Amino acid sequence: MKKIVFALLRYSGLPVFFREVIQRNKISVLVFHDIDPETAERSFAYLSKHYNFISLDEMITAIQKKDPGKIPKKAMVVTFDDGHVKNHDLLPVLKKYQVPVTIFLCSGIVDTGKHFWFLEKMDKKTLRHLKRIPNEDRISLLQARGFHSEEEHHDVQALSLNQIAEMTPWASMQSHTVSHPILSNCKDGESKWEITESKIALEKKLKNPINAIAYPNGNFTKREINFAKEAGYLCGLTVNPGFNSIQSDPFKLRRLDPNDTQNINELIVKSSGIQSLLRLF
Ligand SMILES: [Zn+2]
Repeated sequence: MKKIVFALLRYSGLPVFFREVIQRNKISVLVFHDIDPETAERSFAYLSKHYNFISLDEMITAIQKKDPGKIPKKAMVVTFDDGHVKNHDLLPVLKKYQVPVTIFLCSGIVDTGKHFWFLEKMDKKTLRHLKRIPNEDRISLLQARGFHSEEEHHDVQALSLNQIAEMTPWASMQSHTVSHPILSNCKDGESKWEITESKIALEKKLKNPINAIAYPNGNFTKREINFAKEAGYLCGLTVNPGFNSIQSDPFKLRRLDPNDTQNINELIVKSSGIQSLLRLF
């Protein structure tokens, strides 16, 4: 059913209308997580034909200067959250389609055998609950289920420093906090530490400036924006749907989420932003 809806939407002409009229003079930012190389091949083959990829840095410079400068029409920034180990397999596709991506890493998980808590086996209801409760309750509940954030595993989930070195300069590595808590559920000190420490630790590990943070799960409040500014970040990325322009608040950048779909029609519809604007589903 969902497949038919996306096929109908794709051929309705709405994605073309959105792209040529609304996205034309905006900057669209996509968020992926853990797609496979075949999905990446299909997705970037399409996107590279219909959009003009720019880097997050180019977008930030344009916003800071309030000058579109060399920003092309139908500009698109591609981001990946979490730093999943399989992101490394996408390197040939990124090179082939010249996609300058930004990957947001958790400084406490990258280059270790530690696991992402949200990838633990659990039903959707439990995951939703964990995302809503105070951070200390989330940690205790996960511990009661046998998940310990510091435990090292053989099946590695996060990128290693060697893989990251190979991916540079195709991928810019930026911050996704230390341990991926829901920042808005954290106490002041925890939130500040997650934001500040991840920048310091990643700069030390990668020897590159860290100037962007993607709020885990897209959750942030004014407090997180203030902490990010104090820490010296230049921008913050949300998962609030919509488009960006040089007038955008750099700490509330919007992203479109194709939901790591393998369905090209769904990718086309979601990348055009119609779903988020019409709130169809
Ligand atoms: Zn994340």
